[in-house]
Amino acid sequence: MRRACVIGWPVEHSRSPLIHRYWLKQYGIDGAYEKEAVRPEDLARFLGSLDALGYAGANVTLPHKEAALRLAAVADEAARTIGAANTLWVDDGGRLNASNTDAYGFTTNLDAEARDWNDGGRPVVVLGAGGAARAILHGLLAEGARHILLANRTSGRAEALVGAFGPAVTVVDWRDRNRALAGCGLLVNATSLGMTGKDPLDLDLASLPPNAVVADIVYSPLETALLGAARAKGNRTVDGLGMLLHQAVPGFERWFGVRPAVTPALRAHVAQSLGEG
Ligand code: NAP
Repeated sequence: MRRACVIGWPVEHSRSPLIHRYWLKQYGIDGAYEKEAVRPEDLARFLGSLDALGYAGANVTLPHKEAALRLAAVADEAARTIGAANTLWVDDGGRLNASNTDAYGFTTNLDAEARDWNDGGRPVVVLGAGGAARAILHGLLAEGARHILLANRTSGRAEALVGAFGPAVTVVDWRDRNRALAGCGLLVNATSLGMTGKDPLDLDLASLPPNAVVADIVYSPLETALLGAARAKGNRTVDGLGMLLHQAVPGFERWFGVRPAVTPALRAHVAQSLGEG
């Protein structure tokens, strides 16, 4: 039986088991997907014995994503550029391999929901400069975004991303974020603002062009206040659940040998767990 797991500290909140167990059942695969609560000080030992524990690989969640990349023997370009790993597997030579599928998940979902998001090459506004924003910049630039306006509360973190991603990214002062929306083709919230239990995202959409796409990577709640306000204005919206589902695809294929489909039924299954089914 093939086995994989999600490693976090804590790990209870992870939605990954819901997704991977759904696919295991759907495809009739003799496999298992577990939750592993691993303390930061135990991560190196745990990953060193992943194979011996019977795991073909793992997802990695907070706070282990950067450490997992450092501990891997091989890392793909996405993981290296993003500076964090969320998907691991042990290769035939017993080496620990690392990838980051968040950029893939974000852009695959964006292409599925709003294929024309980059038509005309208008600027993209990204809010946030944390781990998720880093993955999103990587994905957007790989998909041909020409100009990204990046606003973050802590400007030093945004400046660091310009250093990493180059002149296609321009930092906008957090206080000027409303004005930055004028003329953009895509707005992405990659902060944790608007998430259940966090502060609301304070953003005025008055300058947002009517045909701009608005994406929020927060998926709890699924319908964020940002998406509600954008829809009320007539803008197209893309929620965070699609990214979460698509980022899981490459890992499942790697561990279980079947490329799984992201279907409306899977979406409904996971949305139900978010209390929005
Ligand atoms: P992170 O590294 O902790 O970054 C958090 C970001 O939010 C930073 O840019 C931070 O700004 C900003 N922020 C937090 N509180 C703020 C406040 N009060 N005012 C202004 N800005 C604030 O987190 P992350 O890993 O990037 O994740 C961000 C969000 O994306 C989370 O809600 C997470 O659940 C979600 N996410 C979704 C998916 C998906 O598949 N849909 C995948 C990954 C993450 P500072 O730099 O100034 O602190």
